[in-house]
Amino acid sequence: KLLFSLSRFRIRFCPVRTRGFDAIMDKLFDVSKTFRPKKGFGKGTKLDTLHRYASNTLRATLTGGDLAKAVALPPGEDVREWLAVNCLEFYNVANLVYGIISEFCSGSSCAVMAAGQKYQYLWMDEDSGKLMKLSAPDYITRSMDGIEVMLNDPSIFPVGEGSFPVDFVDKVKMIFKRFYRIYAHIFCAHIKEVIALGMETHVNTALKHLTLFVLEFELIDKKEMAPLRGLLAALLPNHPDIPRKKGAEGLSRDVVMEGRDAIAKALQSSPMLKVDVKISAPSATPSSEAFTKPLVLAAENGDVDSVRLLLDKGANTESKDSEGNTPLIASATNGRDEVVRILLSSGADKNGVNRYSETALHRAARIGHASCVAILIQAGVNVHLRNSSGQKAVDVAVTTPIRTSLLQAESQATSTRPSLVDVNLHPSSSAQAESTKTPLLAAADIDDDVSRVHKRSHSGTVANKSCCVIL
Ligand SMILES: [Zn+2]
Repeated sequence: KLLFSLSRFRIRFCPVRTRGFDAIMDKLFDVSKTFRPKKGFGKGTKLDTLHRYASNTLRATLTGGDLAKAVALPPGEDVREWLAVNCLEFYNVANLVYGIISEFCSGSSCAVMAAGQKYQYLWMDEDSGKLMKLSAPDYITRSMDGIEVMLNDPSIFPVGEGSFPVDFVDKVKMIFKRFYRIYAHIFCAHIKEVIALGMETHVNTALKHLTLFVLEFELIDKKEMAPLRGLLAALLPNHPDIPRKKGAEGLSRDVVMEGRDAIAKALQSSPMLKVDVKISAPSATPSSEAFTKPLVLAAENGDVDSVRLLLDKGANTESKDSEGNTPLIASATNGRDEVVRILLSSGADKNGVNRYSETALHRAARIGHASCVAILIQAGVNVHLRNSSGQKAVDVAVTTPIRTSLLQAESQATSTRPSLVDVNLHPSSSAQAESTKTPLLAAADIDDDVSRVHKRSHSGTVANKSCCVIL
């Protein structure tokens, strides 16, 4: 049932990649616009008000605020009410994130619910107490179904004047343990798809928020964080409660290696060192990529200091990521106005395109970054360029004000610079564009070697030298 609603949801909100997952992921934090459990908190009730507060606070933090503040209990509020509204908030986010990833998560790609090679999760049947090994989609579907049932149960999440049950916090802990395992699976098995879909910044933020929340209210056992240890260390450097181990091995290291945010973080923590090391690499060899790529990452993250530093060091403004995004496109996609300005004044190609023949203007218009659109128009970008689907920026604009300013710019450009009309500076054949459109990468990285699976110990945790099962 859940998968059905997830896939319907996906069809409704995420029909094709070019609709812009970034825009969808942005909207995801505005709960009023996204999928909700059928029975949310009644309009005008206390919980509804608190929920709005939670959503608004979170939304504010995403534009540069402090996530740690977003998780804290607002002064004078009941902690159980705060937990309740956040259950719903995290449910919506997890539902959306997995809704997108579920396309890649099948019984064959993920035959066992696992987080990397070391951690597998068994499902305990509530009635019989029997432990079952389920495929990841089955496990996650049951988890989300169970959570939805709880959220809709007024004896657990009271409506109106009802009161919370005595075991409410235990129920909440179970819900958050399930959320955490879903993220552990997504990061360990589907990080490549997450990156290919351009979702990693948002999914990283979602994980960071979830982690800060569960730490704030001590909702999960620290062992649940073990599969993501390396990534968490990068996302939350210096956080005292993140379990660390020297030389975090295996999958978590891979996640760190592949997580662009983590690379950007590493760059942030010691920019001089990284830049110096990379700039000394001979140019025009594959390793020079290692130097130019950080500019895309820093631009995407709006890391003004790193962008300036890299440009000072001579980073190539036309370096591209795997999607062909230049630093300018990456910054426009993420609404990084300041970085957009810096790059434009550094001579970045303002009409450069990615592999979908989309310019920075297309991206900013598509995601809805009005100020970025204005900056780009001001800089004299070509507003007539078409992407590989034949659309101009105005065709993909998501808001009326953006559309209006683009139409205005089009008519001005047409009257003053007719030679530029509909000229695509970087034409690519549509066949070529089609072939590069499918971002599905290598098969999921999962341990399906069932023979190496372990016996359960009395403590409920199973470990041997190759793997460990968390119940
Ligand atoms: Zn999966």
